[in-house]
Amino acid sequence: MPGRIGVSARTASVWRTATLTEIRRETPRVSTFRFAVPDWPGHVPGQHLVLRLVAEDGYAAQRHYSIASAPDDSGHVELTLDHVEDGEVSGWFHTVARPGDRIEVRGPLSGFFAWPGDRPALLVGAGSGVVPLMSMLRHHRARGLTVPLRLLVSVRRPGELIYAREFGAETTPVFTRSAPEGVAVGRMTAAHVAPIMAERPSGGWEAYVCGSNSFAEHASRLLVAAGQPVERIRIERFG
Ligand SMILES: Cc1cc2nc3c(=O)[nH]c(=O)nc-3n(C[C@H](O)[C@H](O)[C@H](O)COP(=O)(O)OP(=O)(O)OC[C@H]3O[C@@H](n4cnc5c(N)ncnc54)[C@H](O)[C@@H]3O)c2cc1C
Repeated sequence: MPGRIGVSARTASVWRTATLTEIRRETPRVSTFRFAVPDWPGHVPGQHLVLRLVAEDGYAAQRHYSIASAPDDSGHVELTLDHVEDGEVSGWFHTVARPGDRIEVRGPLSGFFAWPGDRPALLVGAGSGVVPLMSMLRHHRARGLTVPLRLLVSVRRPGELIYAREFGAETTPVFTRSAPEGVAVGRMTAAHVAPIMAERPSGGWEAYVCGSNSFAEHASRLLVAAGQPVERIRIERFG
């Protein structure tokens, strides 16, 4: 059943053979890969899986990837991968993988970073750190949830903003190197966080921060300085 946190450790530890069914370009360096996964137990937005590639000679490489899609009953999951320079696994996906290819997946993992949609969510991400946050946003929309959700996403330039077409009024992009005309250029600051904190939703925000180690540290410092309780900041580091 999708949307459940309680997939047992045993279920999540089973390797399943997934078939790549679709590849969608998001930005010049980032694509989304859709997989059919037989008997996928369902996930909660924010969770990730472990993906394993096995070569004919038995050599195996495995990496963690956040699930980008919202939970649903389709038997599919979507992952969004940045093409890391000289990256073994992301390089294979971006240059070799074709629909019909099979890989192995195990999960879902990490109940800590999961958001079932039950409390106000303040999401803060950078680069591909937006991927698990997008699963939350899509879930929020798909279920028509009324609980507040805000997304702050930091990216170098507009052309690198993953999922740009999907964002609405809930999202504030922050551009660190170049920005559309009339939009400021620079790091995420207290000025980005303050208006969201001032909304003071009932029960307070649960903050989810995702990105590199340095971004996660910077964003969580901003949140704490703005009054977010430290124990209500959940961090996922991709670095
Ligand atoms: C919980 C979790 C969730 C993740 N979710 C995603 C996701 O949704 N999308 C996504 O694209 N990645 C995600 N990652 C990162 C992913 O697991 C891999 O680290 C990444 O794809 C690089 O693997 P690779 O085999 O291509 O590169 P490797 O062959 O492992 O590394 C190649 C070179 O790139 C450097 N490098 C490795 N990773 C990065 C990086 N992230 N940025 C810059 N340089 C790097 C290495 O130091 C090395 O020099 C996640 C990581 C974690 C821990």
